[in-house]
Amino acid sequence: MLTTNPFDPYDFDGDKLREECGVFGIWGADNAASFSALGLHALQHRGQEAAGITSFDGRHFHSHRAMGHVAGNFDRDDVMRRMPGRASIGHVRYSTTGETALRNVQPLFAEMAEGGFAVAHNGNLSNAMKLRRTLNRRGSIFQSTSDTEVIIHLVATSSFTNNLERLTDALKQVEGAYSLLVLTQDGLVACRDPLGIRPLVMGKLGEATIFASETVALDVIGASYLRDVEPGELVLVSDSGIRSFRPFGNIAPRPCIFEHVYFSRPDSIAEGQSVYEVRKNIGAELSHEAPVNADYVVPVPDSGVPAALGFSQASGIPFELGIIRSHYVGRTFIQPSQEVRHLGVKLKHNANSALVRGKRIVLVDDSIVRGTTSVKLVQMMRDAGAREVHMRIASPPTTHSCFYGVDTPERAKLLAAQMSVAGMADYINADSLAFISIEGLYRALGQERNNGQPQRCDACFTGQYPTTLTDLVEKDGGPPLALVASR
Ligand code: AMP
Repeated sequence: MLTTNPFDPYDFDGDKLREECGVFGIWGADNAASFSALGLHALQHRGQEAAGITSFDGRHFHSHRAMGHVAGNFDRDDVMRRMPGRASIGHVRYSTTGETALRNVQPLFAEMAEGGFAVAHNGNLSNAMKLRRTLNRRGSIFQSTSDTEVIIHLVATSSFTNNLERLTDALKQVEGAYSLLVLTQDGLVACRDPLGIRPLVMGKLGEATIFASETVALDVIGASYLRDVEPGELVLVSDSGIRSFRPFGNIAPRPCIFEHVYFSRPDSIAEGQSVYEVRKNIGAELSHEAPVNADYVVPVPDSGVPAALGFSQASGIPFELGIIRSHYVGRTFIQPSQEVRHLGVKLKHNANSALVRGKRIVLVDDSIVRGTTSVKLVQMMRDAGAREVHMRIASPPTTHSCFYGVDTPERAKLLAAQMSVAGMADYINADSLAFISIEGLYRALGQERNNGQPQRCDACFTGQYPTTLTDLVEKDGGPPLALVASR
């Protein structure tokens, strides 16, 4: 029923450019690389495929990049001893399908005429292929298939003289999402794209300045949160202090709404708001928008827990753990093939049959992507003897792919792009199915959605992409469907 789209504009060399990532950087602390390892550990949920750290000891750069988790790769004395220095950046990465090559693992590093240049990037550039083609024609030889490497070549070929101007010059040519950390001998630069699509926060630990994708990475090392790096801001930290630049003019920001729905850890503060509180608000809104008579509210663990709590508290229906999750398997979403994904769901969740038997259950999850999780879990509740199974989803239907750094399948594989809510309810075999409205989601954030110029990037739910999708348009030969708000 769900068709596969053979065309994938982000497929170079069988390796997708789309990534989910986390970044961490520190300037001004002994054993900086060890802090990076700890910070990346707290960001592991943002990417479990590979991790890397680069340090700078005042003269030399040292890097270690590896497939797999932070633990196991960076809790080893022999590795950490090889990365001395008071400055460091690190990266966790995850890309879904195709070849997973060590050459794509970040930080990427280049020896430039001005010295070493290490970069860690969270986000995705929507014109990387076009830039890469132009650079290729001018003689650039790429070492990876990562969009981030485009930035390195743009910096290397810039006609400006100092590192900061060269970086600014490069960034003015890219489109899309980037929360970027760059380490050179001149200092550590943190930069967020003008729309601020992906998060980036700034903290302090003694004399050291820290940047991270989420505040949980500050918590883990006992650093205090100073502020967010502002959309369009470039912050340079060096031994002479901290300087802020705004090279891109003033553009209304559009931070990613999905960070609040799913991606960020609930104990993070994103855009000044507790992710946990926002998720509970979403659950409460959902209970008002789509009430249901039931005995228990059951979260899909762990992603549905805060929204289910909010649903339960607002509706008065008791919150119960009707599904128990094993913590020894990865996220279902990241299993490479469909068969393994199905198996993954079974491995990961089990029904608490004693609780569920004979009861009317409201299952709460954060999102439906392909529908795999919902199909399995509704059936699991029925097999465990549930009398009714109602599904409530703490985000609007995911109808469009993300081109800004959250991995989503191509549109043809998104259940909500293929069928109506009623069709989806049938497909997952639920007694009822409801999604929070886009307006309700904004209300949960304390905002009202401005249809002309939404305050967030909500393209995965609305198709209103905040940038041109240059690579998609050029590959397809016409305007992408997605540029038209289709719902
Ligand atoms: P699916 O089974 O394909 O419908 O995926 C839905 C499940 O995947 C939900 O339980 C979400 O918590 C989770 N999920 C949603 N988006 C993502 C993502 N970008 N990366 C990893 N997991 C996700």
